[in-house]
Amino acid sequence: MSLEADAGRGLVVGRFAPSPSGPLHFGSLVAALGSCLSARSQGGQWLLRIEDVDTPRCVPGAAEGILRTLERFGFEWDGPVVWQSARGAAYRDAFARLQAAGRIFGCACTRKEMADSALARDGTRRYPGTCRDGLPPSRAARAYRLRVEPGTVSFDDRVQGTIAEDVAADVGDFVLLRADGLFAYQLAVVVDDAEAGITEVVRGADLLDSTCRQILLQRLLDFPVPVYAHLPVACNAAGEKLSKQTLARAVDEAEPARLLVEVLAFLGQCPPADLAASGLAAVWAWGRDNWSMDKVPRRRIQPAPGYA
Ligand code: GLU
Repeated sequence: MSLEADAGRGLVVGRFAPSPSGPLHFGSLVAALGSCLSARSQGGQWLLRIEDVDTPRCVPGAAEGILRTLERFGFEWDGPVVWQSARGAAYRDAFARLQAAGRIFGCACTRKEMADSALARDGTRRYPGTCRDGLPPSRAARAYRLRVEPGTVSFDDRVQGTIAEDVAADVGDFVLLRADGLFAYQLAVVVDDAEAGITEVVRGADLLDSTCRQILLQRLLDFPVPVYAHLPVACNAAGEKLSKQTLARAVDEAEPARLLVEVLAFLGQCPPADLAASGLAAVWAWGRDNWSMDKVPRRRIQPAPGYA
């Protein structure tokens, strides 16, 4: 089919973008299945991107393990896998455009120097603006920040409703190029989503607090703003998000159909009780035919089955 025909029909392009910091756990499977079924149920494409831009957090072999697990669960993605580690030139380009527009400044502050500053919603420190109007005498830039102007950014999340944030007041000027020379996740994700033509971002609600920053960057870079849907994040009995830090178990690959049905139930889709017994292909077919974003519970965190 020609690109024009796709554009005419408003082709939906979704994606799953795991960070290879450990094996897939129940929480990552939620984002994978939710993003995939949303795109597929609209006749759209679903792309896969390995977010290995933050190299110190990457675990050797984890990315390959994630790809194998996704295949085992019957996921099929369109096109080649995109690796952020190979995308430095695109991030540099976007950074240079922002720099040319006067939106970037060098910052000498260390984490310790900012330890007293207020906490933003996502737990990071609000930048107090120390280097905004020039570096203090005899200090060198460590990181580079985006100059954020006051004003509210808002969007209608397909699950969480209307979200609004004054990024300048809440987060302040945020880092785009880190002190260790790596581009920040916020920049990388925006550049990659735009280049891939992503029209909808379906991911965990732990990233809801990043979205207004990302929309701000999309506007500054003249990128289209995708539709967003933030799914409940899976937590353990202590209410902690499943992650490597909270020792989330890798998904059990022995019974992929049963686990996908559990994810469907977690996402409020009410799969029939005997669906898993019909096999993996039947679970996928049911998911594609019955997916409804409207049924996804509107909460940011929800206990995962098996973690009571
Ligand atoms: N790489 C991020 C994660 O694994 C997801 C980023 C995104 O979906 O925008 O938490």
